[in-house]
Amino acid sequence: MEIFNGTQQALANRIKSDSTISNWKDWQWQLKNSIRTIGQFEKLTGIRFPAKEKEKLNETLEKFPLSITPYYASLISKDNYKNDPVFRQSFANVHELTVLDNELKDPLSEESDSPVEGITHRYPDRVLFHVSNICAMYCRHCTRKRKVGDIDFVPSKEQLRKGIDYIKNTPQVRDVLLSGGDPLMLPDSQIDWLLSELTAIPHVEIVRIGTRMPVVLPYRITDELVSILKKYQPLWINTHFNHPREITASAKEALRRLADGGFPLGNQTVLLADVNDCPRIMKKLVHKLVANRVRPYYLYQCDLSEGLSHFRTPIGKGIEIMESLIGHTTGFAVPTYVIDAPGGGGKIPVMPNYIISWSTNKVVLRNYEGVITTYKEPDHYDNKFCDRNCASCNLELNLEESDEIQSLGIEKLLSDDNDSISLIPEDNERYNRREE
Ligand SMILES: *Cc1c(COP(=O)(O)O)cnc(C)c1O
Ligand code: SF4
Repeated sequence: MEIFNGTQQALANRIKSDSTISNWKDWQWQLKNSIRTIGQFEKLTGIRFPAKEKEKLNETLEKFPLSITPYYASLISKDNYKNDPVFRQSFANVHELTVLDNELKDPLSEESDSPVEGITHRYPDRVLFHVSNICAMYCRHCTRKRKVGDIDFVPSKEQLRKGIDYIKNTPQVRDVLLSGGDPLMLPDSQIDWLLSELTAIPHVEIVRIGTRMPVVLPYRITDELVSILKKYQPLWINTHFNHPREITASAKEALRRLADGGFPLGNQTVLLADVNDCPRIMKKLVHKLVANRVRPYYLYQCDLSEGLSHFRTPIGKGIEIMESLIGHTTGFAVPTYVIDAPGGGGKIPVMPNYIISWSTNKVVLRNYEGVITTYKEPDHYDNKFCDRNCASCNLELNLEESDEIQSLGIEKLLSDDNDSISLIPEDNERYNRREE
């Protein structure tokens, strides 16, 4: 039986003098008592801000709300709060008021790629479905600040129905990613309803949930919730740990329940200045994740959303972190480092370079230790001409008729069945002249 630690006890008692451990572990209690104002934060944590700063801080809250669960606040180390990774992720910063010229409200153009309200359809076979606009804790680095935290924007069943219908009517969608806000802010009954609707669609092969609950409100992962989710396998769950300090006994318990429920677990981390921009912190984080059966999935370069300049690092920092992970630790503990293309091009993976040189039959490579090696390519390789007519090919793919056979993008340039020799930007002047 877990007991309060000192900080939790103190926080709980400041909220209500007779608070018990079962109050603390009740996720509804946590939400009801979430910190929403600077004053509440000061009162609960004992940290005080100068009046001038407080004024500015209140301005930031008008742009993006504050909400910190007592649980997450209990992880802040009061004596060194300014450098504290939990404080920095959850508490307002006056720098949020600085908006740079190259920053955007919707850097990933999610609105432009939205066929119906709530759906972003960017990739051929999968969609992002925004099913909630609220979160237990509002991450100050949130890329969807334009949407998240807007109280008027909790989608109703009718609005969700629009998204469900779009998916129903779009047979190429085989993968639905529920996001938000945090989908697990919805009541159990609504989650049950939504998943039953989505999994009943014949072409939907998998559903995934992106949630930060195991990090900011691990008590949300109740046995009842797990038993609801279990009805809808295959269900993938992706969470968002950014720092090893967030993997507490309570977080581990939430992860254990989810892993025992049989859900494959992934994690996405955002690279954040003064929070986790350090190869040693990242290595510790990924080790703790895999020890709790969570596979590091993506490491995100911080987006160009408004007011995030104080969180952004150069891309070189991410590459340096990848350099320190690849080869140095367990392969499946290494996430893919991605930059989500501004303007909506999707995620672009970036890595250190491992190919040093290349000839017609040899590739020169280097490994993580700096050892340079050569790979001799085969002298004879009969290239298979592929016209994408799988029925007459002697490789046995056994495609069903409905399966897509068109190649796309760079894949098209590499393929045999397509005459394209270049991809040309729409506004290329030289080509426009030719057409004239
Ligand atoms: C990230 C994302 C997805 C899922 O991408 P995966 O690489 O398959 O995880 C889908 N749609 C949108 C709009 C996204 O941003
Ligand atoms: S949990 Fe996700 S959507 Fe919610 S505030 Fe954090 S980053 Fe934004």
